[in-house]
Amino acid sequence: MKATEVINDLRRRFPNEPEYIQAVEEVLTTIEDTYNEHPEFERYNLIERLCIPDRIFSFRVSWVDDKGRVQNNMGYRIQHNNAIGPYKGGIRFHSSVNQSILKFLAFEQTFKNSLTTLAMGGAKGGSDFSPRGKSDMEVMRFCQAFITELWRQIGPDTDVPAGDIGVGGREVGYMYGMYKKMAREFTGTFTGKGREFGGSLIRPEATGFGNCYFLLNMLATKGIDIKGKRVAISGSGNVATYTAVKLMELGAKVVSMSDSDGTIIVPEGLTEEQLHYILDLKNIYRGRIREFADKYPCTYLAGERPWQNVKCDIAMPSATQNEIDDDDARALLANGCIAVSEGANMPSTPEAIKEFLNAKILYAPGKAANAGGVAVSGLEMAQNSQKMSWTAEEVDTRLKNIMAEIHHQCELYGRQPDGYINYVKGANVAGFMKVANAMMAQGIV
Ligand code: NDP
Repeated sequence: MKATEVINDLRRRFPNEPEYIQAVEEVLTTIEDTYNEHPEFERYNLIERLCIPDRIFSFRVSWVDDKGRVQNNMGYRIQHNNAIGPYKGGIRFHSSVNQSILKFLAFEQTFKNSLTTLAMGGAKGGSDFSPRGKSDMEVMRFCQAFITELWRQIGPDTDVPAGDIGVGGREVGYMYGMYKKMAREFTGTFTGKGREFGGSLIRPEATGFGNCYFLLNMLATKGIDIKGKRVAISGSGNVATYTAVKLMELGAKVVSMSDSDGTIIVPEGLTEEQLHYILDLKNIYRGRIREFADKYPCTYLAGERPWQNVKCDIAMPSATQNEIDDDDARALLANGCIAVSEGANMPSTPEAIKEFLNAKILYAPGKAANAGGVAVSGLEMAQNSQKMSWTAEEVDTRLKNIMAEIHHQCELYGRQPDGYINYVKGANVAGFMKVANAMMAQGIV
């Protein structure tokens, strides 16, 4: 296999899908050597079958807003690969959603899920519907219309969706309610459900907590203590806020948070009171991060991201894809950043990743660092199948162990002759080998 040839061919066949091509390119260029050590993979044209999703559903979602107007959105579900378990991956509601973004996310998810050690294939879905500014009833009607179309394609052993940008507990609840009605079953078809109907303890916290646990594993390789470290976070949604909660518990200082309108900079680090204000602002009042700056002394930078505007030891991007470009990366390095651990999916551009790897800082790609979310989703599926629920301590312990195991796999496949751990390569090769071996064993299907 020549990675460049496969990528060029995909680029020709899918010319309007830059995010998908970007994700494929990052993986293929790092697994090329390993792949070519297995001539049987090439005989089975494994790489093309792994890059192109098993199937894609796309559909119109029509719903009625509070003013009685009919609205139409696009809905999608990408079932990428189920070689090692049922399709599994979140649903994103955001105005920017298109097929390319969901294909990149489903592709990434396949490797991430493989890394978790649990039996889950890769999928992703979503809509260009934005819950921002919509009433509860509008969100409910949209979720119901979305699931009325999708419910036939999902199920507890077929495809298990969860949340992502714009989809939290409220949206998962509405989608699950409609699914349950259409399918006439009460099963664990969604994860991230409410506690009362099968949701796992620690699932809301899992992605952010898991990213912190992964970071601790990385810092330990260099004997660095997290206490007192200044951490820049982007976003103020699910992943960002629970990252902040765990970091502060560990004694680190959270010096920035953001949303799509702007960034707050708090050089001394957020206080407990300020963090709780942000949690309430985002989870209860669905407000804007600007409102924090109205209440507390800090710098608010409208339309800016944190990276060029704050001195930090560690960066944890937790908003969206391609939010750190090469200028941002250089600014972070110049300001003394020693570690980047990605809560978001593909937040660093390929040029930014090159900067981090060339500088040989600790750099964890999202598919390793943010895998705690889907890992606890996997634990939610296990609890639902057993009709049991585990304690918070039990789930948290399992999460810590899974993140340590993912770190171990990255180290195993990513350690370079000079001792530097290339986590990008490690995560890609480890994730790939398990899926590839399963695909080989199952024949051409
Ligand atoms: P949320 O919707 O809860 O929060 C997203 C945050 O990012 C919000 O603060 C949002 O601001 C901001 N944001 C979204 N899009 C943009 C943009 N284009 N530019 C700037 N800011 C933006 O989503 P999550 O916290 O769940 O997800 C965040 C990231 O983490 C995503 O990349 C997601 O794929 C990834 N992830 C999530 C997991 C999970 O369990 N939820 C698991 C693994 C990865 P605003 O409110 O203004 O839109």
